[in-house]
Amino acid sequence: MPTLPLRDESTVYVGHQYDSSPAFGFLWIGTETRYRTAAHLVRRPASGETVIEIQCATCEKELLLRVRSIALSRLMRKRSLITALVGLAVTVLAIAIGLVSEYAGAPIPLSTALGAVLVAAVPVGFATVGVGAYGWYNEASIRLYTATELGDGTHRLLAGAGSHGALAP
Ligand SMILES: [Zn+2]
Repeated sequence: MPTLPLRDESTVYVGHQYDSSPAFGFLWIGTETRYRTAAHLVRRPASGETVIEIQCATCEKELLLRVRSIALSRLMRKRSLITALVGLAVTVLAIAIGLVSEYAGAPIPLSTALGAVLVAAVPVGFATVGVGAYGWYNEASIRLYTATELGDGTHRLLAGAGSHGALAP
């Protein structure tokens, strides 16, 4: 997965949705959404995170961008990776203990506390891997807010969204 470096200063594009219509493609039916976009220059803080107030160029609504420093964004991402790895370790360990005890001729009964813990550890571990991997891939160093809620359906952060993945500014 290509990881683009985060910049101290980047231009993000905030879109105001003005139209959407059904779209038909080859073996694909979806919605085509059209936005009026406006560019905003965002400067990252040296550390921690900050909230920048911007105004939609189309409807003049007040919008908020939560901007994380490069260091904080990296830290959040590292935490997610550690979460995923811990989840993976728990899953593998639970399966390994189960298999080893089975082959050793002393399977752990489900009625015991250890058996119940091992059975529960597998889905919990898998879920933890999912949560961690999602956070690692999607850590949003820049996120759009409105004053009252997270996202309002009309405004969206488009290109330059600040994910470490495909959209890192
Ligand atoms: Zn707007």
